[in-house]
Amino acid sequence: MPEDRVAASSSDLTLVPFVVLEDLLQRIFSRHGVSDDNAKILATNCASCERDGSLSHGIFRIAGYLSSLASGWVDGRAVPRLEDRGPSVIRVDAMNGFAQPALAAAVPAILDRVSATGVALVAIRRSHHFSALWPDLEPFALRDLVAIAMVTGFRCVAPPGGTKPVFGTNPLAFAAPVAGTHPLMFDFATSAMSNGDLRLAARAKAKVPLGTGIDSHGDRTDKPEAILDGGALLPFGGHKGAALSLMVEIMASALTGGLFSHEVDFSGYPGAETPNTGQVLLVIDPERAGNSDFAGRVLTLLDTVRASGAARLPSDRRYRQRAEANKDGIPIATDKLRQLIVLAS
Ligand code: NDP
Repeated sequence: MPEDRVAASSSDLTLVPFVVLEDLLQRIFSRHGVSDDNAKILATNCASCERDGSLSHGIFRIAGYLSSLASGWVDGRAVPRLEDRGPSVIRVDAMNGFAQPALAAAVPAILDRVSATGVALVAIRRSHHFSALWPDLEPFALRDLVAIAMVTGFRCVAPPGGTKPVFGTNPLAFAAPVAGTHPLMFDFATSAMSNGDLRLAARAKAKVPLGTGIDSHGDRTDKPEAILDGGALLPFGGHKGAALSLMVEIMASALTGGLFSHEVDFSGYPGAETPNTGQVLLVIDPERAGNSDFAGRVLTLLDTVRASGAARLPSDRRYRQRAEANKDGIPIATDKLRQLIVLAS
């Protein structure tokens, strides 16, 4: 089990209110070369991941953010540039900065285009996405819009039958409004395991299921260290996951003008971890497609799925953890919290 989850079930925990963690992270980013505006956006994003139990993209990532910034690979002060590419297309040059500020800069234009045309395609390039995808989509679903996002990474996933990594872990996320309750969201890597969870497993000296990845000889292994040390992850679901990963490369990199995962070259920037690739989002007003009760129809579908005996639906766990964290505070291992406080001072 990943170290952070083990810690979360031990007694040496501090329960931290969301705003306190957000403020702490904002100070850390600000102290390490991120502009105030960008620091606020990254802090809210990272604290949200920790609150909702997306531990592979919460405070676990702070060390990687900071080493990437220190290496000069990513520009924490980047000011994104928006380009108008037609009635429904928004192109964003993240200027070698983080992806979340680039998306934040585009939100007013996205809402404007969706309102005018029913759909917005957002093509972000030269962007570093080092987080979960769902925080990018949830605000749109809360506005009764449907949203899809994809992002590329750095090469660490081999296609089935291949022995060398080509793809990133290339996540794909979807969000849709549901009448009277939280949006439905799912968000997953197209690899059998996310790189963050693999590294957490390696740290915890845990094994991973066979089929997660291959070692440097191309043999399947259950040792996370062997996958990380010259091996590769595999796509989930064999050729089906591999095809989705291909799609993500095509949509988030070829279509946006960003680099493919296999083109990301960290050499020359020791400590760099944040991939500089691209991200694509599609935001849709569902009512414009002809259904004035879209959210109600989604609710009917989800009720039917639950009634069939489904133990849970995507995002159920996330909302449950959010509700607990909002009530009691976000559980953080006390030693990790101390490390964060040192980084902020
Ligand atoms: P998970 O396997 O943890 O979760 C995938 C999705 O499936 C979630 O929406 C989850 O809902 C849902 N889910 C999980 N178990 C069940 C179940 N039993 N029944 C129904 N639904 C279920 O995701 P990954 O490990 O693949 O990815 C983790 C995160 O890493 C993602 O947020 C992704 O965006 C991020 N990532 C980011 C990358 C980047 O380059 N920026 C690269 C790769 C991954 P719930 O949330 O409620 O658990």
